[in-house]
Amino acid sequence: MFGTGLLKGLGVTLKHALDTFEDDRDSVPDRYKGSLELGNNRRVIQQPIDQEGLLTIQYPEEKRLLPERFRYIPMLIWDSEKQEDRCTACGICAKVCPPQCIWIVRDSDENGKPMTRCSDFYIDAAVCMSCSFCVEFCPFDAIKMNHDYELAVYDRYPQLVYDMAELTVPLEYYAALWPTQYEEEQARRKEEEEQKRKQEEEKAAKAAARAAAKSAAAAEESATGGAAPRRSAAELQALAKERAAQRQAQAAEGGGSEDDAAAAKRARMEELKRRAQERARARKAESGE
Ligand code: SF4
Ligand code: SF4
Repeated sequence: MFGTGLLKGLGVTLKHALDTFEDDRDSVPDRYKGSLELGNNRRVIQQPIDQEGLLTIQYPEEKRLLPERFRYIPMLIWDSEKQEDRCTACGICAKVCPPQCIWIVRDSDENGKPMTRCSDFYIDAAVCMSCSFCVEFCPFDAIKMNHDYELAVYDRYPQLVYDMAELTVPLEYYAALWPTQYEEEQARRKEEEEQKRKQEEEKAAKAAARAAAKSAAAAEESATGGAAPRRSAAELQALAKERAAQRQAQAAEGGGSEDDAAAAKRARMEELKRRAQERARARKAESGE
């Protein structure tokens, strides 16, 4: 029917007007109830997620409380507990960044050996598309997304190319912006540290047990005056006697004494030697030498 769309549009406008009226009535007597006072007439107003009315905010004095997962430009974390940058200059974030707006300069020691920290870290905020890939791929929780969106400047270069000093924030700042994620990460890190500690303790206990067994064996060896014989003296004597008896029995079977057997062996060796000499002489004669 002619004019139906127009009526629908007006209906949507009317609904928002009524919702806004209702929201305003609910917030009487103070529409700033629950807001965060920053001083100098500045405040952060929280608009509940289920509120459908159009809440007017006097920006820039008043700002909305951003949801935790809001992302703008990345920030680097300074671990206040360990007093060090979390970034190890591994370069994974720079590799995965789709518009390639991260540059990392790895630090090195006095001998020129590369170290696991940055000497500088740059992000071109004019190119960054707030995709958060760098955060997702960082294995050390060293880079997170900042909520700070008021970055307007007159010149793009160099103001929008942030260096390490401008990007770095303390861990507490991150904890305040991302409380839920921070708690989850801390719990995971604690669990990992506990597992690592247990593994190291087990490793140390095994090494101590091995060392104790080794020293016990060494003590036993020195008490017995060297390596313990595998057979006792009486056993060795009995073995020698048994071998002598076997040899005598073999000689008796061969119809002679032990000396006869040795003499026969020697004669056989002489015979073999003589034959070898004969063969050598024959080969010499054939070749005409
Ligand atoms: S921020 Fe993370 S991924 Fe990027 S270089 Fe540092 S440790 Fe590696
Ligand atoms: S948020 Fe995305 S575009 Fe921005 S620096 Fe990280 S990976 Fe690059």
